[in-house]
Amino acid sequence: MSVSDRIEKLLIKAEIGEPLSRDEIIELLKMPGDSVRDLFASADRVRQREVGDEIFLRGIIEFSNHCERNCLYCGLRKSNAKLSRYRMSDDEIIATAEHIKKTGIPTIVLQSGEDSFYKTDSICRLIERIKTETDAVITLSIGERNLDDYRSFQQSGTNRYLLKHETSSPELYQYLRPGCRLNERMQSLRRLKELGFETGTGNMVGLPGQTWDILADDLLVMKILDADMLGIGPFIPHPDTPLTGIENDDIELTLRVLALARLLTQNTNIPATTALATLHRQGRLLALQAGANVVMPDFTPDIYKSRYDIYPGKSDTGAARNIIEKLKADIHSLNRTINFSAGKRPGKHFPEIIH
Ligand code: SAH
Ligand code: SF4
Repeated sequence: MSVSDRIEKLLIKAEIGEPLSRDEIIELLKMPGDSVRDLFASADRVRQREVGDEIFLRGIIEFSNHCERNCLYCGLRKSNAKLSRYRMSDDEIIATAEHIKKTGIPTIVLQSGEDSFYKTDSICRLIERIKTETDAVITLSIGERNLDDYRSFQQSGTNRYLLKHETSSPELYQYLRPGCRLNERMQSLRRLKELGFETGTGNMVGLPGQTWDILADDLLVMKILDADMLGIGPFIPHPDTPLTGIENDDIELTLRVLALARLLTQNTNIPATTALATLHRQGRLLALQAGANVVMPDFTPDIYKSRYDIYPGKSDTGAARNIIEKLKADIHSLNRTINFSAGKRPGKHFPEIIH
């Protein structure tokens, strides 16, 4: 069987929702460049069948750039003394949440570094206030906390939790996140799932030391966890971190991983990540044609935005209003529309088969 026949056969298998083995995933990840269009087309069909033609929006507020972790890849790491740190006040956060609501977006993502300044109680009071004032669906993305904290967040009205596993290799994870363990991250993710949060995970593509095997395992983690949302973005080296100078300027591999995530998980919500839009002018649009169905405009007020400097170029991707306007213009040509509803993960069309 020729390589292209073999790829076609695997894509048909994936498209109808049959599980792929780790070796088959690796084969698809490594497929020759001339078959990549077929991979994206296949993921695009599954996206249409499972989650429809509509694009869902989530408004992000990056409310604190203080972080007690020292992740080697991230500009917010504790040891980055060059970063000017900020915390938004509760009133500023509420005002931003109201601004998001006014644009018609019903889902708010609250993101920060791991910042223990915010006690569980104060986060819960904040969530309750946002709920009362805006009635938004709330996603938290504030790193790892303990089981009781997750319970409290849920009782205060938090609906979703985003905690990327970052990499499925325990060794690479431990190297990139000093003092942290992959099994603790996975335990948090399982707890969040069990508590009933819509749970998001995901990885970075292009990390130093990442292999095909690790990328395939990343995809299997997403599948086996039965994650509801998947954040898949390219690693972008930051000049003020130990990983400065590592090359990763090609988004194609990230798009391959994203497309395979759509094929493997079928009905999850997958954003066209800001990191993709940062590395490539058309990154967002390309992702939306390779399996993505969500866009997350950044509503962090301008005075803070450039200081949420996880990776370089992030804040150049534009104001939330411009992103939505540009999206409206672009998606017309794709025959897609924006849906201003919360966009919960839909029910499954296929029986779940985990091998
Ligand atoms: N502190 C929380 C949330 C903020 S970080 C946490 O770590 O979970 C949000 C995401 O930014 C991380 O999950 C990581 O995948 C991404 N990120 C950090 N540094 C990055 C870099 N240099 N390039 C691309 N993405 C990066
Ligand atoms: Fe902190 Fe998250 Fe950045 Fe790690 S990735 S340094 S936990 S903000």
